[in-house]
Amino acid sequence: MPAPSADESYPEIRAAVRAVCANFPGEYWRRLDAERKYPGEFIRALTEAGFLAALIPEAYGGSGLGLREAAAILEEIQKSGGNGAAGHAQMYTMGTILRHGSEAQKRTYLPKIASGELRLQAFGVTEPSSGTDTSRIRTQAVKDGDGYRINGQKVWTSRAEHSDLMLLLARTAPRAEAEKSHEGMSVFLIDMRAARGKGLTIKPIRAMINHATTEVFFDDLRVPASGLIGEEGKGFRYILDGMNAERILIAAECVGDARWFIGRARDYARARQVFGRPIGQNQGIQFPIARAYAQTEAADLMVAKAARLFDEGKPCGPEANMAKLLAADASWAAADMCLQTHGGFGFAEEYDVERKFRETRLYQVAPISTNLILAYLGEHVLDLPRSY
Ligand SMILES: Cc1cc2nc3c(=O)[nH]c(=O)nc-3n(C[C@H](O)[C@H](O)[C@H](O)COP(=O)(O)OP(=O)(O)OC[C@H]3O[C@@H](n4cnc5c(N)ncnc54)[C@H](O)[C@@H]3O)c2cc1C
Repeated sequence: MPAPSADESYPEIRAAVRAVCANFPGEYWRRLDAERKYPGEFIRALTEAGFLAALIPEAYGGSGLGLREAAAILEEIQKSGGNGAAGHAQMYTMGTILRHGSEAQKRTYLPKIASGELRLQAFGVTEPSSGTDTSRIRTQAVKDGDGYRINGQKVWTSRAEHSDLMLLLARTAPRAEAEKSHEGMSVFLIDMRAARGKGLTIKPIRAMINHATTEVFFDDLRVPASGLIGEEGKGFRYILDGMNAERILIAAECVGDARWFIGRARDYARARQVFGRPIGQNQGIQFPIARAYAQTEAADLMVAKAARLFDEGKPCGPEANMAKLLAADASWAAADMCLQTHGGFGFAEEYDVERKFRETRLYQVAPISTNLILAYLGEHVLDLPRSY
């Protein structure tokens, strides 16, 4: 049973998500993890229930909910032992189309994304040689007649094989020519169904976790001008707008993971008898569970604050970053505690602890690493000198 929580906001949404997740128990995720398969049935069920269209306005076929409700959906998925990462990108990438796309682009894509006819799950930003320094991406889109030609490579483009559309960041002007290093990049919506085999190649990366992540190669891929989102050269700003949403939603997933670990550890500590008494009677076992609980509740407050500010249309950069930092730390501490509480059985696949342990470790690195959040807080909130 997951840990009790002080936050039971949106009880109907949470109950509905739990009902869907109940059909996808630990064995389901374990099997997919072993076979490195995509949870297609789970994503279909979430789509049919309308959860992945939560943030799409009603006018475009979605449910028009806010980030707080979306956060509750993702938290519940993680808390149930599943993994929302297979579908979460759909929630925040479509925001770029919604905020910066033309009315024609919105009408063409958003209703189909809401109904599940089209999947927008791939987000191509990271490249092998640029790392976190996005200004140094090399993937280039060059004007060619009434469209563009794209050449370059992305890495860690998750879900590309299971998505119809990709949101791609590419350079349309060289870095050296731009006044500021982040100018001269543009965002494209790529129809991967049309592009595969015609200049777009996807290669899966076998990773520590089952994340359907890939390398994507662009070799003279021709895209129509109608694929450009907003104005040429302003793509980085458009992507940044969506990053607060991404950080808040992933922070909510971390809170869900932490609650799953705490619940599992609590149940095991009560049941497991060693030296003639439950291991949870030992303070060496009990206190780390209590500490993880307190840490998680605190992180959840920051997630709620950041999501509220976002929904109110107020600046929320510091809060979104702190939510991601605190929640990722809480889930990682809870994962370590849970594995330790289970002793040797924590390593056995059938307990799901080792799988969730691997999965939640990602959030110290992606979508932004802990160091870069600290650097952001140091520079932009505390007014310390830029460290890089
Ligand atoms: C499973 C998985 C899925 C992913 N999915 C996607 C996706 O769908 N789309 C996408 O675009 N990307 C995706 N990513 C990429 C992810 O966002 C990056 O891995 C992450 O942003 C870190 O970038 P990097 O790996 O290039 O690390 P680097 O930038 O090379 O950094 C390496 C290490 O150095 C540290 N570091 C770097 N610079 C500094 C500095 N100035 N100060 C202090 N420390 C520093 C970092 O914190 C990090 O720990 C995914 C990654 C993984 C592993």
